[in-house]
Amino acid sequence: MRTIDVLHELQRVDTALAADRRRLGEIVAALRDHSALDEASQRLAQARAELERLQTEQRDQELAIETQRAKLKEINTKLYSGKVPSAKELDNLSREADMLRRLLSAREDTLLELYDRIEAAQAAVEAAERAHREAEAALRERQAELRAEGRELEAAVAALGAQRTELRAKAPPRALADYDRLAQARGTAVAELRQRTCQACRVSLPLGDETRARVGQEVVHCPNCGRILWVPL
Ligand SMILES: [Zn+2]
Repeated sequence: MRTIDVLHELQRVDTALAADRRRLGEIVAALRDHSALDEASQRLAQARAELERLQTEQRDQELAIETQRAKLKEINTKLYSGKVPSAKELDNLSREADMLRRLLSAREDTLLELYDRIEAAQAAVEAAERAHREAEAALRERQAELRAEGRELEAAVAALGAQRTELRAKAPPRALADYDRLAQARGTAVAELRQRTCQACRVSLPLGDETRARVGQEVVHCPNCGRILWVPL
């Protein structure tokens, strides 16, 4: 194996390692992301709170109606008892009874409206519960997928790491130092030389450089970008 083939292969492995590690980082972040379920929980809590508020209002209205009915009954009993001595008092009682009946009728209308709103709020709670269950299931499924992908990537990273160690042991120390310096400075250390053109910086090279690069026993650098030139055999 030519030295440049070792370096070229090392670059392939390093590139794959970087991509796999980046993806692993994304997976860790995605596993921590529960935002869709959190939102569904929040919407469910809001729907339940609204239903509870309406039910409290319902109990309050029912209690008030009960009290007013009792009061009306009391007035009516007095009115028809024959025991109210004055006409003025009878008149007052009768007016009071009329007023109570009007109040009661208004309250009963409010209560009927409230029943409709409670029915709608119950439907909203059920819908929010369904959405919450779906969000939970979706999260579980997504996490299982992510964990499976993560396990595959961990295995790939381990295999690539072993390949990397092997390749680095094969490369001459000076070529390896060149490779590391260029990879650090330029992102990629090795560029393909095709039709006498460096494929990284697109500069044309003299024939002599191509020939030396093709032989591949010495490391030939692109005179423009400095990368190690690789010519396929
Ligand atoms: Zn170049």
